[in-house]
Amino acid sequence: MPLGPTCPCCHARVPFRRTQIGVGKAFICRNCGTPLVMSRWQSFLIAFPIIAVYMIVRPALRSMDLAFWLLSLVMVAAVAGMSWLFMKPQPVESDKAEAG
Ligand SMILES: [Zn+2]
Repeated sequence: MPLGPTCPCCHARVPFRRTQIGVGKAFICRNCGTPLVMSRWQSFLIAFPIIAVYMIVRPALRSMDLAFWLLSLVMVAAVAGMSWLFMKPQPVESDKAEAG
């Protein structure tokens, strides 16, 4: 099984940026044309624990500039990496389509 998100219909890879921006917005699989959407809830579940750890650790590092910035960089990379690894696009169901 390849790493990263794939289309549930044709298993074509979904571009990395789809896991980072436009979460919750429908997009078209470039291979089979199926409308897909990344779940906001899934994105929240992935990002929340990382952000929670960051918020807990951050005050302790505030006096250490370098460690603070390293932690921030690691956090951003962790959210991006985990999103890419664990987010799975879902086919858009017309009756569940979100307005806006
Ligand atoms: Zn597809």
